Amino acid sequence: MANRSLWLQEALAAEGDVASPGLSEALRADVCIVGGGYTGLWTALRIAELEPGASVALVEADICGGGPSGRNGGFALSWWPKIETFVKRLGEEEAFGLVRASADAVAELGVFCEQEGIDARFRRGGWLWTATSPAQLGSWDGAVEAAARAGEQPFEILSAEEVQRRTGSPVHLGAAFEAGAATVQPALLARGLRRVAVARGIRVFERSPMVELDRDRGIVRTPSGSVEAGAVVLATGAWLAGVPELHRAVVAVSSDLVATAPIPETLEEAGWTGGESISNCRLMVHYYRTTKDGRIAFGQGGHRHVLGGRVDDGFFGFSPAATQKLERDLVRLVPFAQGAEVTHAWGGPIDRTVDGAPIFGRLPGAVPVVYGVGYSGNGVAPCLTAGKILASSALGRDDEWSGCGLNRGVVGRFPPEPIRYVGGFVVRAAVRRKESREDEGRTVDAVTRRVAALAPQGFFRVKR
Ligand SMILES: Cc1cc2nc3c(=O)[nH]c(=O)nc-3n(C[C@H](O)[C@H](O)[C@H](O)COP(=O)(O)OP(=O)(O)OC[C@H]3O[C@@H](n4cnc5c(N)ncnc54)[C@H](O)[C@@H]3O)c2cc1C
Repeated sequence: MANRSLWLQEALAAEGDVASPGLSEALRADVCIVGGGYTGLWTALRIAELEPGASVALVEADICGGGPSGRNGGFALSWWPKIETFVKRLGEEEAFGLVRASADAVAELGVFCEQEGIDARFRRGGWLWTATSPAQLGSWDGAVEAAARAGEQPFEILSAEEVQRRTGSPVHLGAAFEAGAATVQPALLARGLRRVAVARGIRVFERSPMVELDRDRGIVRTPSGSVEAGAVVLATGAWLAGVPELHRAVVAVSSDLVATAPIPETLEEAGWTGGESISNCRLMVHYYRTTKDGRIAFGQGGHRHVLGGRVDDGFFGFSPAATQKLERDLVRLVPFAQGAEVTHAWGGPIDRTVDGAPIFGRLPGAVPVVYGVGYSGNGVAPCLTAGKILASSALGRDDEWSGCGLNRGVVGRFPPEPIRYVGGFVVRAAVRRKESREDEGRTVDAVTRRVAALAPQGFFRVKR
């Protein structure tokens, strides 16, 4: 993962030289966590909170935050935009409870950063779920109605005038505004969690990939060492698509980002000063936000998938084609960014499930090997909740988190290969055609619409 994100470059520059050792011995631990992104780090911190005497080792292939946790858009969102998916999977009562907890997790994230001195630039500027074509208008209606049935009003519906006033862009035709949402600088968060984990006694080994897992003896092997543990937590995000039992449950799909040079005066003139993050209602979603130093970070999901659904280097690299496309889309959706220099471009893999909500479960074997994956592009705040589910599961606790409805293993499967790979091209071509015609205000034929509807849900539910 040589191509570091803007965020990770900033975070590492601020840290100085804090290289942590690779694993070079045979260790024993109560719990071994594999993966040093938000899921692994929140799980480690939660175990330390629940059982301060427990010994925890964490092995990370790269450095903590080297994967999506240090590369994402930094939108800290609740699960309210996914409420319909949650209801479908879990029924109203449990879905409402978990989605409320996800909104609390955004606040909890901010409080944790403040208490632990993590300057992750947490800012509660809210999230604009906006329509950038007439076809997208009202995409949020189902979520708004479901929230109302829960007795909640997480969204305020904004007129075109209001959303244009807040964003300075005439492309926005209306929006549902979730005031509780926040943004973070993603890598500062990941590296800050790592720092706190180390301070709490978690043994963190970076550049130590798990190369073998003995599920019956609970042994995680790395090239130069091993951890024998009473329980193993697999927190390797999109890489979990390589586990045979999860192979058809998760697919890695690309998401790419660019960032402009700082243009604070331009943002000021345009009026986009409230710190609002913005997504439109496409399946190949555009997402954009401002940064503390006045940049615009602008991303889009869904351009690439690979045979076998596994992560390869192509997800991280700087693709000139993807970057040029992003630059064009940036200027279309944020016209006042015309002329701003694009200084950074990077990408990463999104771990998508069939319905767009994460799955948690246990793999077969004598020792508990638990996993959590499938945030489908919405993991920044939800990983905090994931840490609660996985910590309780790894510690063998019987509580509301280990017993929650998301912790029931695989719930939906993609078609087998090579159908999934080939089908992915056909479906994406249909999604592209549908969404670009909608952007131009043109009609979409029924066949295109039907094929596009086969795409898995992403960030949030979209109108089919
Ligand atoms: C470009 C992009 C934009 C995104 N934007 C947003 C957003 O704005 N808001 C939002 O909520 N979500 C967003 N997401 C999703 C979010 O980043 C993820 O849901 C979240 O980071 C998942 O965290 P994780 O810890 O589960 O996985 P990761 O962050 O993927 O961490 C997994 C770690 O496991 C390590 N690993 C892999 N294999 C091994 C092995 N064999 N041994 C040891 N370690 C291993 C990897 O190196 C990696 O560091 C985005 C994702 C991407 C890629």
